[in-house]
Amino acid sequence: MLLLPLQIKTQIKKMQNKITILGTGTSTGVPTIGCNCQVCTSKDKRNHRLRTSVHLESSDGISILVDTSPDLRYQVLRSSIKKVDAVILTHEHADHLHGIDDLRPFCFAKTPKSSINVIPIYTTKKVSEELTIRFPYIFQANKIFDLNHPQIGGGIPHLNLINIDTDTDQPELLLDEILGEKFTFFISPHGYTHTISFIHSKLGYFVDIACIEEKTLETLKNANLDILIIDCLREKKHQTHLNLDTALSYAEYINAKFTGLIHLAHNLEHQSLTDLLMSRYGCDKKILPLEDGQILYYS
Ligand SMILES: [Zn+2]
Ligand SMILES: [Zn+2]
Repeated sequence: MLLLPLQIKTQIKKMQNKITILGTGTSTGVPTIGCNCQVCTSKDKRNHRLRTSVHLESSDGISILVDTSPDLRYQVLRSSIKKVDAVILTHEHADHLHGIDDLRPFCFAKTPKSSINVIPIYTTKKVSEELTIRFPYIFQANKIFDLNHPQIGGGIPHLNLINIDTDTDQPELLLDEILGEKFTFFISPHGYTHTISFIHSKLGYFVDIACIEEKTLETLKNANLDILIIDCLREKKHQTHLNLDTALSYAEYINAKFTGLIHLAHNLEHQSLTDLLMSRYGCDKKILPLEDGQILYYS
């Protein structure tokens, strides 16, 4: 008997890499606390944006979380993420980091062989140093707890920091693999710091960036991406983020099959922005704002 189209579709999807958009909002989230603007009071769910974070599931079933936002607990519950094999932390800003304690349940071991899972965290040396200062109970546990003062109670996340060898003069880097998955990492300026961006297979992920270096743009263009996810804070220019015009000019140049705009502030209303992009690029839905919970597939 022939497979039904839906079954064929499901089988194809299983062979592809999957990205789940856990949050599309800027650092405050949308709505912003105390704000009565049109977007913050909107009943349209697409205007409700948790802090920016995504989850990748490779075609081989490897589960990689990108950033641990302060909304992490709700995000993983909402998207039914049951395991995390590795984490990439893009940079040290609070909106990308401060949910790190919510990795704890993913460290509860599922096998009788070991009592804990240790999750590898791939990030820069600078972020590793910041983490050690901000979360000493996780990253300096051996200094805080000892025989006379053992760690008791609910436990701590068990995380292993792995530094990506970054060099801001060499913005393009290749890290062979994370658990067998090949990543190309890039370093982009973001205010007083730098952010890790990456290409994984046919996905490009570039958030919290002030610009994209020319050489990186060429690499992105030549990568023939299925999906580009790109920073897009608001219409007005910003010192540390891409604004709409710059994000669109990069997106046009890179020419991915689909570009999703992320890290959106409350100045951008979902339907109005969609209408603007449809009128500019036609109805083939090539460049659109992302929404929380959205799932996309790439080869
Ligand atoms: Zn951010
Ligand atoms: Zn940031």
